[in-house]
Amino acid sequence: MAEHEPIVVIGAGIGGLTTAAILARAGLDVTVLEAHVYPGGCAGTFFHKGYRFEAGATLAGGFYPGGPMDIVAQAAGIERWPAHPSEPAMAVHLPGGAVVTRYGDERRWDEAARAFGPDTASFWRWQESTADALWDLALRTPDWPPQTPGEGGHLLADGARWLLSNPLRHASPALLADAFRPVAAHLRDAPKALRLFVDAQLLIAAQTTSAHANALYSASALDLPRRGVVHLEGGIGAIAETLVDAIRRSGGKVIYRQEVQRIEFERGRPKAVVTKRGDHFPAGRVVANLPPWNIAQLTGDDTPQPLRTLPERPQPGWGAFMVYVGLDERAAPPDTVLHHQVVVREPLGEGNSVFLSLSPTWDEGRAPAGRRALTISTHTALEPWWRLFRLDPQHYERRKNHYVDRMLAAAERVLPGLRAAAELVMPGTPVTFQRFTRRAHGWVGGFPQTSLFQTWGPRLSPNLWMVGDSIFPGQSTAAVALGGIRVARGIMAEAGVHNPVPARRQPVGANA
Ligand SMILES: Cc1cc2nc3c(=O)[nH]c(=O)nc-3n(C[C@H](O)[C@H](O)[C@H](O)COP(=O)(O)OP(=O)(O)OC[C@H]3O[C@@H](n4cnc5c(N)ncnc54)[C@H](O)[C@@H]3O)c2cc1C
Repeated sequence: MAEHEPIVVIGAGIGGLTTAAILARAGLDVTVLEAHVYPGGCAGTFFHKGYRFEAGATLAGGFYPGGPMDIVAQAAGIERWPAHPSEPAMAVHLPGGAVVTRYGDERRWDEAARAFGPDTASFWRWQESTADALWDLALRTPDWPPQTPGEGGHLLADGARWLLSNPLRHASPALLADAFRPVAAHLRDAPKALRLFVDAQLLIAAQTTSAHANALYSASALDLPRRGVVHLEGGIGAIAETLVDAIRRSGGKVIYRQEVQRIEFERGRPKAVVTKRGDHFPAGRVVANLPPWNIAQLTGDDTPQPLRTLPERPQPGWGAFMVYVGLDERAAPPDTVLHHQVVVREPLGEGNSVFLSLSPTWDEGRAPAGRRALTISTHTALEPWWRLFRLDPQHYERRKNHYVDRMLAAAERVLPGLRAAAELVMPGTPVTFQRFTRRAHGWVGGFPQTSLFQTWGPRLSPNLWMVGDSIFPGQSTAAVALGGIRVARGIMAEAGVHNPVPARRQPVGANA
């Protein structure tokens, strides 16, 4: 392929936009085609009746110096993210009334001791030291899982340098064991409250609970509050909007209302992309910011080998049930923490655990005067929603209303009087998610992080790449940005162009 043959990115989610912004900055010919009228996908912000609601993601991390979003900014020529630090990161409400506030600073130790007892400090010490070591490795941006001999070599070299410079090198056997076991191995004698707390946090960070979530992945995922959480001006969609601006400034294109229907191949390589409108975009390389099931639909007879053995429906993993609420600001005093996880009971998900995020009072564009925007979500199984939607629409509506009631009741633990103060209540099911993000069956959050050795890499077939939360390191805006960096680096290496991704060398500890 000639160096400047066009690259088409399908989808303006954070993974696709990150890839496109870096490639455009490197001087490559990049076009992003987005089905919707605005960017961001699961991390988008939508307008409704004067509110700007965060569609899915609400909690943004990785913006600290040397962190994933800082690397993206440097590589894509972004001067500043419209991001404001938010502390505390969140409050977690356990059954029985205990509330655990997650701070990034030293207060976290007192809080953990108060909530779970001083004996649990060893768990948090393990978590933090492991997370420091792993983030240090991750930000050297090695390619996991390696898919080419070059990536394998890079991984070995980076891994060796990391091991030699790492304070945890004496603990390498334990790290190795953790690579193969769930985090439950570190919670055997833990009080029930700690296990439940970790389960609830991992469900949102790793899409599974401590009995199944890989220990190394979990240590890093539990570190989010310590590494700092931010609010984006105008809502989380500002990440995507900032990336779109960067792409256009570098000469790339982002085109909305262009739903891709087919990828055309010639001798096993992409040749063009065809949209629902019938437009034809020549493409030497295609980056699909889509789940594997969507990519299989677009590739027809040329479906890459790894996608030929997919189960018929997306699995394992989850859908999301959402409630978007516009409320009178008097129901949310100005000092209310902005993010909360409420655990009502086990099993988690299905309205038994909910996550809620309020628009900040300073972000006036998020809601009409005197109002605030609230997004509430819970994990939910996909199948029942689709079955009812197709076979029993009345039951589907009843179930929807039932979920709304239960989730508002859970949210009232944080915001008493919420139901009376709500002037707008809008639910969304996996059916809604499919409609707005086109993700097959409304499957969101990527694959549960149970094994480091069964994860997807981005290369699907020659010149066809997958990016987004289906590839390692999985879900979250920061994680898909890391995936986007990897894909951009891979394409630049193949195309032989200068790589603008900065090499990160300074150590990154907590609150760097
Ligand atoms: C309810 C919920 C809460 C979450 N909370 C958080 C959180 O608090 N913090 C956090 O960091 N992460 C959170 N996440 C996860 C995070 O939102 C996602 O992991 C991430 O945004 C996914 O990005 P992606 O690159 O995979 O793209 P996606 O978000 O999947 O975007 C894909 C894009 O492709 C477009 N598209 C699809 N098909 C086509 C087609 N055929 N042609 C053209 N365009 C197409 C879609 O319209 C969409 O814009 C949450 C997710 C959900 C669902």
